[in-house]
Amino acid sequence: MTSHVLHRRLSGPPIPRAVSASGLIITDSDGREVIDASGGAAVSCLGHGHPRVVDAICRQAGKLAYAHNSFFTSEPAEELADLLVGHAPGNLATACFVAGGSEAMETALKLVRQYHLETGQPDRVHFIARRQSYHGNSLGALALSGNVARRAAYAPMLPRNFSHVSPADPVHGRLAGEDDAAMVARLAAELEAEFERVGPGRVAAFCAETVVGATAGALAAPAGYFAAIRRVCDRHGALLVLDEVMCGMGRTGTTHAWEQEAVTPDVQIVAKGLGGGYQPIGAVLAGARVAQAIANGSGSLMHGFTYMGHPLACAAALAVQRVIAEDRLLDNVGAMGSLLMRTLSDRFGGHPRVADIRGRGLLVAVELGIDGPGGVPFAPAAKVADRIKARAMELGLACYPGAGTIDGVNGDHVLLAPPYIAQADDIARIVERLGEAVDSVCREVVQ
Ligand code: PLP
Repeated sequence: MTSHVLHRRLSGPPIPRAVSASGLIITDSDGREVIDASGGAAVSCLGHGHPRVVDAICRQAGKLAYAHNSFFTSEPAEELADLLVGHAPGNLATACFVAGGSEAMETALKLVRQYHLETGQPDRVHFIARRQSYHGNSLGALALSGNVARRAAYAPMLPRNFSHVSPADPVHGRLAGEDDAAMVARLAAELEAEFERVGPGRVAAFCAETVVGATAGALAAPAGYFAAIRRVCDRHGALLVLDEVMCGMGRTGTTHAWEQEAVTPDVQIVAKGLGGGYQPIGAVLAGARVAQAIANGSGSLMHGFTYMGHPLACAAALAVQRVIAEDRLLDNVGAMGSLLMRTLSDRFGGHPRVADIRGRGLLVAVELGIDGPGGVPFAPAAKVADRIKARAMELGLACYPGAGTIDGVNGDHVLLAPPYIAQADDIARIVERLGEAVDSVCREVVQ
């Protein structure tokens, strides 16, 4: 049958049609079972078909699916906000619910702008982010994103008040003999110089993923990096925005990845693991300083979307977050994350085509390279990660591919992000199938 869905692929072999899912397994229309080893793109944090979430969604759908946010708030939105900011670490004070990560970043950019307007700083319109970052596909979020490949086609359409500094990449971006402290000092100095280049009172915010997800592959910054850049932002009166769309909501073992960095953001965005894929939902969480400035100023957010605070989406996210807390699933993220790293190291340690294995919690990447550990990347044209994805799908494993960067710094990688309910036998099966896919593709790739 010809599909009329404008999907990623309009020609070539058809994309399998998913018909049902339970736990880690997605079943397609041919009855094939695929292990969802990356939760899509680090979305399905509870696996599929969780009965408590399904029940909460059904109950909410029967009660109130939608009411426009300019007329009403709703019980699930209130309770979710209370859970996220009322009982959270740090100084989070207010939450705004949107339909996904890109909407969350657009909202965050506007919220930062509003904060500066409310506090009499209208010239702060410039945003600094990092190369090789990804913050979303809408034009504002894409302008903020430093990933060249994702920006390239749209570059002429992107606003210009965005610039990029070096990523905090201890795997590929360390100078010879440089330890963490020296690397952090160099990156902080570079950021300081960028603030000065843009001009005094011009930078609105510095934005970064706390742990870089798909573009660089589960890459954490060197110790002390976020505290150092927080100091630079404070010195220049700019806000710190952390993008935890992929790494947040428990994925790295703590609810927020920034809890492991001794820093609190002024504004934070989350999505994916917030609703676990049960409903499209993202959120912007803002600290007391931003919330207070708006409360003392115009009193309301100058920005809105039709589906903001969607009751059904909020009910789903609330149920997901309650299950994570009640079942103490972050303990399992820590335990299964360690097991996954150990099992990958046993399988791929010293592998001639694996350059690095890294991650935090259940956000883990295997980077491919020609000469084994620390080796040079495969040529982008070889599309190694895409081929591994395709081969893994044939073997019944869905894992998320990350193409190497076009500047040739980072190699192709495969991202694993199993749900927080994963057990030891799931981890064993995932690594076994991934090993087979990697070996088979690497044998084929002619260098
Ligand atoms: N920010 C990060 C770090 C992401 O990984 C993504 C999506 O992968 C986004 C933002 C955009 O989220 P969405 O695809 O839900 O718009």
